[in-house]
This record gives sequence, C-alpha cells and structure tokens, in this order.
Amino acid sequence: MVAGIGIGTGIQTLTLTVAKFGGTSVGTAEAIIRSTKIVLNNPQIKVVIVSATSGTTNALAELFDLLVNFQTNPKNPQSKILKLIQEIKEKHLKIIESIGIKETNAIKIIEEFEQKYSQTLPSIQTLTPTLTLKDRDFLLSFGERISAAIFTSTLQKLTKEQEHVQVQKQEKKVKHLSATKIVRTDENFGEANPDMLAIQELTKENLLPLLELNTTESTTVIVTEGFIASTSSGEITTLGRGGSDYSSALIIRGLYQHDPRFNLLEIWTDVDGISTTDPKLVKDARNIRELHLNEAAELAFFGAKVLHPLTLIPLADVDINVYVGNSFKEQNQKGTFIRKNIDPTPLVRALALRNSQTIITLSRVKKPTNYGFLAHVFSILTKYKISVDNVTTSEISTSFTFYDNPNITSDLIEELSKYANVKVEGNLSLVSLIGHKIVKIPDILSSVFKVMEGYHIRAVFMGASKNNISFLIAEEHGVEVINKLHASFLV
Ligand code: ADP
Ligand code: ASP
Ligand code: MG
Repeated sequence: MVAGIGIGTGIQTLTLTVAKFGGTSVGTAEAIIRSTKIVLNNPQIKVVIVSATSGTTNALAELFDLLVNFQTNPKNPQSKILKLIQEIKEKHLKIIESIGIKETNAIKIIEEFEQKYSQTLPSIQTLTPTLTLKDRDFLLSFGERISAAIFTSTLQKLTKEQEHVQVQKQEKKVKHLSATKIVRTDENFGEANPDMLAIQELTKENLLPLLELNTTESTTVIVTEGFIASTSSGEITTLGRGGSDYSSALIIRGLYQHDPRFNLLEIWTDVDGISTTDPKLVKDARNIRELHLNEAAELAFFGAKVLHPLTLIPLADVDINVYVGNSFKEQNQKGTFIRKNIDPTPLVRALALRNSQTIITLSRVKKPTNYGFLAHVFSILTKYKISVDNVTTSEISTSFTFYDNPNITSDLIEELSKYANVKVEGNLSLVSLIGHKIVKIPDILSSVFKVMEGYHIRAVFMGASKNNISFLIAEEHGVEVINKLHASFLV
C-alpha cells in the first residue's frame, strides 16, 4: 500500500488518493476482489476509476464493425453479431455470479446493452444515416458502465465482510457516480478533447459533495468509469483507447483545484510499474523506481502503453504525484513513483516503441513564398484532423510523422500537392530513447548510431525536447532494435 508515504509539499498533512484500475485489474472475479481489497485497505482512497474488463472494449469495437458491415451489406448474417453480444453478456454474468452480487445494477446495464443491440438488429438496415463515431462511443461506453457497476457492488459487499480489511476496520459508504457527470469534453467523438474548466466545475458540483470530506471521519468512496465522458448536451464521448488513465488524471486535477489534499494518483495495472521498456518486448526490462514527470510524459507520448499518451499533461503544473503499481502484487511495493524532483544527472532512462507510423515528405515547394508555407500545410492538416507527432525541416523539404490515420486520404494528398511534391511512406516504427536531459549525454548520437549499424534510419528527431531522441525505422525491425538498444544502454 502506498498510503502514508508522505509525499507532497509538506503544507498538507494528509494525502487523499484517486485510484485507477485498468482492464486486467478488473478482468476476472479474482482480479476485481483483489483490486477491491486495495481500496478497502487504504482509507486515503476516496475516488476509484475503473476500465472495462480486459478484452471488452476490443470486443465492443468488433461488434461496432460488424454492425456497420451488417448495415451496409444486407446479405451479412446476423448470427456473428448475436453470438458476440451473448459472449460479452455471459462473460460479465459469470463474474457477477462468482463474486456473488446478484443485486448489482450491472445486470440492468447488461440488459440494456443486449436489448439495444440484439432486439433492434432487424431494423438496423433501414436506419439512416449509417452508424457514426457517436454511436460507436455510446456502444463502447457499456464496457466501463458495466465494470464500474460491478466494482461498486463488490466494494459494497466486501466492506460488510470486514475480514478483508486489515486497516481501520470501518464499513465504507460506497456510491457510484457516472463519469458523464464529471468529465466534460467537446464533440470530437472517438477521441474527445476534455474541457478542464468545466471538469473543475462539475467536480465541485457533483463529486466533492458526495465525498463528505468536511465531516471528521468520512468513509465514503465514489466509484466512476474511466474512458467515458459527455458533451455539454449530454452525449456520451470517449477519450480514445487507453483513456481511463487520462480520465483519472483529469478527475484528480479537478479535485485538487478545490482540495489540494488530493495529491496522489495511483494507477493500478498488470505490471510492476513503469519499466525501462515494455516488458512484453524485452525480457531484461527493469522496473524504474522513480521517474521525472517530464520523462514519464514523454515515455507515454512516445508509445509506452502503460500510460495513455496525455495522462500527465493535466498534472504538469500542480503538486500531484503518481504511483504506477501492480494490482496483482500490491504488497511488493515495486511500483514507480512519478515525481517532479529527482536526480538531475543526464541519462538514458527508458525506451519506447511506437508502431504504425507514417511520414509525409513535402519537397520542391510549388508556390514559393518567403513565409506562410508551413502555416498553409498545418491548416490543411488541421482540416483533416491530423495530429502531427514530429516535424523535421530543411530549406527544400519538410517531413511530418503521424500515427497511422484513416484521415490520411487521397483528398488530403491532393490538397498538399498544390503546395509541394508529396511522398507518403508507411509501415514505420518510431523508436525513442528517453531520459532526463538525454541530449546532453556526450556522444549520445554516435553511440546510438553504432548500435543501429546496418539498419536504415529514415529520420531522426532531436532537440525539441531535452529528454528524448527519436528515429524512424522499418516497422519489421522495431522489436529487434529495441532489444539491441536496451542491451546497450539499459542493462
Ligand atoms: P491497463 O489495462 O492496466 O491500463 P495496459 O495494457 O493499458 O494496462 O498497460 C499496461 C501494459 O503496458 C503492460 O502490460 C506492458 O506490456 C505495457 N508497457 C509498454 N511499455 C511499458 C513500460 N515502459 N513499462 C511498463 N509497461 C509497459
Ligand atoms: N477500456 C478502454 C480501452 O480498452 C479504456 C482503458 O482501458 O483505459 O481502450
Ligand atoms: Mg491502459
């Protein structure tokens, strides 16, 4: 348990915690019970944020694709769709049964899900317009809605059975609050952008009063969904895949605004915190005990799936620490602390790999102007909702990298071609070396190039941030290169 580690500025004497549990940490009845016990044994945890059970968001996304196919092609059979709906339903009913929470509200949500998608199936082909990203977000939201209801009921059951509790044996008041009442976004369905000011207001109006923090010994715990949010008109949106981490950061940031005792975010996952690289790719990956917020933010941004890329952005300007730990081995305390003050020595701390990268190179500008070329290009990219990851530019050509994107269409290429010759290359991986002031390590580039001998490096990105060096290589070499760099810099 991380409670009472005494982090913070020292002004506050007490730490209040928001705890987020990822998909595998709520993936089975055993995992849910284990995660519930983490909450019951830490009186500082006041808000709990849960993901959908592992695999469920993928299954719901597959269901959406099947529905779209069915809608556009009347010959497609319904049986596959109905089978998938049943599988999703059964998986959750089994969990509910083995935990023994028959009264849970999750059952009503599962029924709503089943009715909506199986009973309306015969009429779906007559629906116009066809299903949209808004419908997709609504469908995906069932994953988190069901798991939050299950988690709430499990907490309510176990808090009555005090044998699970080692500290402060006191029954907790457990309530559910829908994330749609706290997390406000714009209408960019599929990957909505949060409205932090609105979130602060909603946190104050809807979440804080429920926590009853003014009473001397509040035992209230509020459970809510990660990943899902709502627009100002009440439509459900999502924050993009892996977005529950981001939800938890937005919610603690909202709470902190009104009560700075909320200064610890715990992210519970299926590995021992953040490692030198993805332990699923490199067997020698080592756990990192402490990481600077900027390093962790870059690691997340450049592909370490353990944190959603934007998670740490809302925490950059406030005194909130983050602990990433393993909910399966909670007692080992081998997780990672993300702090703002750590040893400043320049070093290579970690590596990240981001696949499915595309690079667009614009050369031989057709409409030469002394200024405004990049502004034109960026306005076109903005129009197509393309978010640029890296840019490299010279007098005669400019390259941009993107995460593989359905918006990279022939129309976009045509528009860009009015300004320059356009070359698009896909199937690339972005490899990033991350570490505090990494660019200041003497001879760092020549050491990297030595390891990379024999591989074609398509582009190098360095200097925009002191904390990372990134380069693009063929996707097929990604894992091999990460292993070689890890052996060279991190073992
Ligand atoms: P959750 O469902 O808990 O959000 P995720 O699957 O989204 O979990 O993220 C955890 C996974 O992130 C790990 O299982 C691991 O494979 C992957 N990962 C990628 N890079 C790293 C890293 N540097 N350190 C730890 N885990 C990483
Ligand atoms: N359930 C969502 C996903 O799988 C969000 C998350 O797990 O963070 O993408
Ligand atoms: Mg995740």
